[in-house]
Amino acid sequence: MKTVFVVGAGPAGLFAAQKIAQAGHETIVFNRDIKPGGLAEYGIYPTKDKMKVGLRKQFAKVLSLPNLHYFGYVPVSSRSAVSVPELREWGPSAVVFSVGAQGTKKLGLPGEEARGVYAAKDFVYHYNLLPPFPSLDFSTGKRVAIIGMGNVMVDIARWLLLDAPVKTAEEVIVVGRRGPFEAKFDLKEFIYIEPFLDRAGFDDELQRIRPQLTAVGQDIGKLADETFPVLKKPAQDIGERRLRFRFLSSPQQIHAGARGRIERLTLVENVLFEREGNIGCKATEKTEDLDVDTMIFAIGDVADPALGLPYHRDAYVTNPDATDPKRAAYEIFDPQNGNVVDGMYAVGWARKASDGLVGIARHDGEVGAAHVLKYLETAPESGNVCIEQIRQRLECKGLRVIDKADLELLARAEEKMARAKGVAWFKFDNDEAMLQAIEAEKQAAIQTA
Ligand SMILES: Cc1cc2nc3c(=O)[nH]c(=O)nc-3n(C[C@H](O)[C@H](O)[C@H](O)COP(=O)(O)OP(=O)(O)OC[C@H]3O[C@@H](n4cnc5c(N)ncnc54)[C@H](O)[C@@H]3O)c2cc1C
Repeated sequence: MKTVFVVGAGPAGLFAAQKIAQAGHETIVFNRDIKPGGLAEYGIYPTKDKMKVGLRKQFAKVLSLPNLHYFGYVPVSSRSAVSVPELREWGPSAVVFSVGAQGTKKLGLPGEEARGVYAAKDFVYHYNLLPPFPSLDFSTGKRVAIIGMGNVMVDIARWLLLDAPVKTAEEVIVVGRRGPFEAKFDLKEFIYIEPFLDRAGFDDELQRIRPQLTAVGQDIGKLADETFPVLKKPAQDIGERRLRFRFLSSPQQIHAGARGRIERLTLVENVLFEREGNIGCKATEKTEDLDVDTMIFAIGDVADPALGLPYHRDAYVTNPDATDPKRAAYEIFDPQNGNVVDGMYAVGWARKASDGLVGIARHDGEVGAAHVLKYLETAPESGNVCIEQIRQRLECKGLRVIDKADLELLARAEEKMARAKGVAWFKFDNDEAMLQAIEAEKQAAIQTA
């Protein structure tokens, strides 16, 4: 038996941990957040209750394995109390990094620091109640530009137009650097926001870009069969909130008003080109300004450089030895000495940022775990890793370590709150409230015992 550390309890980390623990190894999961689940808990759209409840059940099953230990509320990073080198000093045979993609993709635009300009991940964390984001300013105005044409854009537009408790947005303008055929969202997701589509405005936009599409052999007549089936339906009256698209455009500059909040966005117009069957785009000299008071970048995320792993071009460096395709790059690689870092692995969105749905993250975690298990066959025995000693070390650093029993108490407290409020579910939106609820449940259990 060996000991393996898994850093990050999203789908990739938990399913990797499950495989490793089921193979009989002592497995310790460290997680930044109090609750496990990562984006399954704090990214997936709030009203997808059935999916979230199903995933929580699966995660609870993983956590019920007796040789799998949970240390929640313990961020590992060069900026926090526990660093990667320190973790390794504690003697595990292998460490799996499944921290997701916590970095923000920056375009480096002038004015990017203006108020009202957000990264999609942060905005999504805000409405999904991941502390501390609910208590930070994510105010929205009347005209919101969302940059990007994927599922995350759809979720955010859906929130703004349909489900936000206070709906400020009168117009959501989706800005895509390429054209309507390159939209990346799933049609079953787009259905939620299509009633808001300003059809007259959409037709005008298609006419504006028609010559560009024709130049790369794209036929607007086929759009309804490909990315915008809504065009087959009769146009309906839209209410006071509308969805618009601006294609072939990239943000170039953000202009802030007197109070430091974005009030205008300069877009540069792009032209399309075709290369080896793929449609690319390049900027022209032509620009246009949009009056917007909110802007959200939904262009994918990147790995967080502060974690402390070798980092290059927005990602952790994994084994570049791609000669054998079966040896997908799960091993962390040190480009300075040209060697794989012994016993260190990355899985899920930590390995490949913003790559697909939960099922893909799960699969990636499990494939990564298979590599780890192979490595463990010949790896040296773990140092003398004692679970209680690790807990004590963490507590000596002032960390309040959340364990599996705490998670059960927290779940119980949230169920009680939901019942008391007569709602389907309830989530505490700050760490302090979660910790107090755990303590209160603990005291109540002691008194009834
Ligand atoms: C807005 C949005 C909506 C989505 N909707 C869907 C959907 O409807 N259906 C679907 O199937 N998929 C959806 N996905 C995709 C899905 O959420 C991901 O595929 C999946 O969560 C990725 O799993 P992961 O474990 O790699 O990373 P994450 O889920 O990001 O998990 C990372 C974990 O690592 C922890 N962590 C981070 N940094 C540290 C650190 N320094 N130290 C310790 N722990 C750390 C975090 O606390 C977290 O628990 C959505 C994604 C987004 C962004």
